[in-house]
Amino acid sequence: MYNLGDFIEMKKPHACIIKATGKKANRWEIVRLGADIKICCTNCHHLVMMPRNDFNKKLKRILD
Ligand SMILES: [Zn+2]
Repeated sequence: MYNLGDFIEMKKPHACIIKATGKKANRWEIVRLGADIKICCTNCHHLVMMPRNDFNKKLKRILD
């Protein structure tokens, strides 16, 4: 189970590119946890909010 402040990977990476590696960013921080879940891309700080059900489907794994 995930918690507020956890870092996670989604099934689809974000569209932004990490400058240092040239790869698509896929590290998000959970910044709001409720009926809706808000995540923030740790590379570009883009925010995405979605219902918890959608989030559960799109979540790939919880990072250390
Ligand atoms: Zn991003």
